[in-house]
Amino acid sequence: MRLLVVSNRLPVTVKRKSGGYEFQESAGGLVSGLSAYLDSMRGTPFTREEYVWVGWPGLAVGEESRGMVKSRLQEDFQAHPVFIPEYTMDAFYLGFCNKTIWPLFHYFPSLVAYEEDQWRCYREVNERFAEAVMEIARPDDIVWVQDYHLMLLPELLRARMPDLTIGFFLHIPFPSFEVFRLLPEEWRRGILTGLLGADLIGFHTHDYTQYFLRCVLRILGHEHTMGSIELEHRTVRADTFPMGIDFRKYAEAARSPEAEAERERLKPSLNGQRAIISVDRLDYTKGILNRLRAFERFLEENPDRHEQVMLVLIVVPSRIGVTDYREMKRQIDEAVGNINGRFGSICWTPIHYLYKFESLYPLAALYSLSDIALVTPLRDGMNLVAKEYIACRTDRTGVLILSEMAGAAKELGEAIIINPNDIGATANAIRDALDMPGVEQERRNNIMQERLIRYDVVRWAEDFIQKLSVSIREREHLQARLLSNSSRDRLLRDYRAASERLLLLDYDGTLVPFSPHPDQASPGHEVRELLDKLAAIPANEVVIISGRDRHTLERWLGELNIVIVAEHGAWIREKSGEWHPTAPVIPDWKLRLHPLLAMYADRLPGAFVEEKDYSLAWHYRMADPEQGSVRAKELMDELVHFTANINVQILPGNKVIEVRSAGINKGATGATLVPRRTFDFIFAAGDDWTDEDLFRVLPETAYSIKVGMGQSHARFNLRTYRQVRELVKDMTS
Ligand code: UDP
Repeated sequence: MRLLVVSNRLPVTVKRKSGGYEFQESAGGLVSGLSAYLDSMRGTPFTREEYVWVGWPGLAVGEESRGMVKSRLQEDFQAHPVFIPEYTMDAFYLGFCNKTIWPLFHYFPSLVAYEEDQWRCYREVNERFAEAVMEIARPDDIVWVQDYHLMLLPELLRARMPDLTIGFFLHIPFPSFEVFRLLPEEWRRGILTGLLGADLIGFHTHDYTQYFLRCVLRILGHEHTMGSIELEHRTVRADTFPMGIDFRKYAEAARSPEAEAERERLKPSLNGQRAIISVDRLDYTKGILNRLRAFERFLEENPDRHEQVMLVLIVVPSRIGVTDYREMKRQIDEAVGNINGRFGSICWTPIHYLYKFESLYPLAALYSLSDIALVTPLRDGMNLVAKEYIACRTDRTGVLILSEMAGAAKELGEAIIINPNDIGATANAIRDALDMPGVEQERRNNIMQERLIRYDVVRWAEDFIQKLSVSIREREHLQARLLSNSSRDRLLRDYRAASERLLLLDYDGTLVPFSPHPDQASPGHEVRELLDKLAAIPANEVVIISGRDRHTLERWLGELNIVIVAEHGAWIREKSGEWHPTAPVIPDWKLRLHPLLAMYADRLPGAFVEEKDYSLAWHYRMADPEQGSVRAKELMDELVHFTANINVQILPGNKVIEVRSAGINKGATGATLVPRRTFDFIFAAGDDWTDEDLFRVLPETAYSIKVGMGQSHARFNLRTYRQVRELVKDMTS
């Protein structure tokens, strides 16, 4: 088993150099985090034999050099490149990723571009990644896809290798439904179904997970139970894994001689002033301008603090090709100039502004030298800078001022939490931070450090992979129940050898797919012909055993030489064509319950009440999925109270709640059919819990089949109604 980590960029950058290529390791947050995890696996009993990193190598490589680049990356870096033409990569990265997904997922809808061409390139690049992964993937590999660049990839991989284990982690926020829905229908559906190709989808915070699940419900109509979504073939889980940092690395860097030397070098320039550190990539999500405004307000309101503090503002160049970023850079330059011009003096510059990237040791030195870290993003998936600052406070002093809009705020509640749009409160927070007693600083940092040590980046990755392994085991368990080829052959052999056969078939979801309205699910020519042929074989007793009312079943299947059981066993029609009730009287409770169900139907557009002889059904398949699910729970609750003294069962089904006289079920009626003849072959197929009653009463030798991947009393599972039809078809030949 290997781990394939797939991310937009490889941890190696390939550059063109004097006619050849140069290979340089590059470490971003994700890379160094995952590397710590991969390193931690070496030499443990759980060592994964190998891992391979799949991603874009940083430039377009000509056809003639691809072989060479590929083998160099494989041999020296355990990396596998995805080659992408320059134009496509630009439209993908600078276009769809950073002009559509990035602003939208960070709640900047006014900056979002909706370019069809860029969406096309996004799809194309995801396809290329899928092809590249397929070049090296083996069925027992674990593939871990990273981030918003590759949201279509899980599904593309699933289509190519259905049993592959696939995890996905989103490193940015997942927005609420009202924001996500701004994407055109095809895009938003594509992204959600793309993600649902994974077995496990991870987010930084509980909120992001909930927003995602809500979008899946509202846009695709899939409900979830505690984060598990049951699809036709598989279960997908969504869960929360707040990404940590390599705590030890930062703490050790802060203690290192390199950082010590750097601190010594910087101290004279501080000249006894207290430092406030601010470190970000240049990005509108980071709230750099808000921060400057808050610092300005602090200086305005606290003249006594002038010449006592210095803001060290590090801005890392980023996405230079995108216009919005160039404009923001200009605004930051201007704001810094204004503040320094307005408050500075010959011997004091309030803001020290660096527009560059700092490497680990200088950064650790700055973190450990600064009394305050000012981290005020307007929106941030996690924010690692906040965590790194805490890790570098080896003497446990220092104050973190943190925006409530950063994912990290969920874990670092002991920081001074601010709203970055509240300039006054942020300015006050700076003053409070400067005045916070040392004991209080230590108390807060102690708690935060312990938390960050416990759930560091290695734990984060282990946790994710471990949860992914659980879903693999669940899948394997279900797969073991799938009707294998050999069991299928045995079933057909036994069928052919038998002289008296009972074939019990559920209708909806077993022979035909679900339709928005129950009336639309009439059997087509294919199903009718299939049943006709099956029933024409003298040894066969064919029974359709359904929850539908008898009139519909009579209309659809009445011509056939079969037994029909309607209303989950309440009515039975013999081959002669006569209907008999299995229960003595038509119940009177329906009169009392109908108004309640009707009221719930009136309050939910798309819902309606179906009345049958022995039951009432409240359907909501056509209603708004989220509202439907809420109303269904309310109705369930009310029905339970309302029917306490009535002899009924309340049965929540697939987008339906059914109230039915107690004692009537497919099992009770099915049990009366079994002894009718000396059957030496019994077959039953059904897709929902009403069929479970039947499966339970059948003899052990019966071939019972659950359609769908859920748990069941049936002996086997088949994935879809189509497979049932194929199997039944084989019984007719
Ligand atoms: N970083 C760095 N040098 C710099 C500025 C930032 O190494 O000069 C690193 C920083 O240590 C952190 C990462 O860049 O690990 C930024 O991660 P964060 O989650 O804070 O923001 P992102 O850039 O991912 O949005």
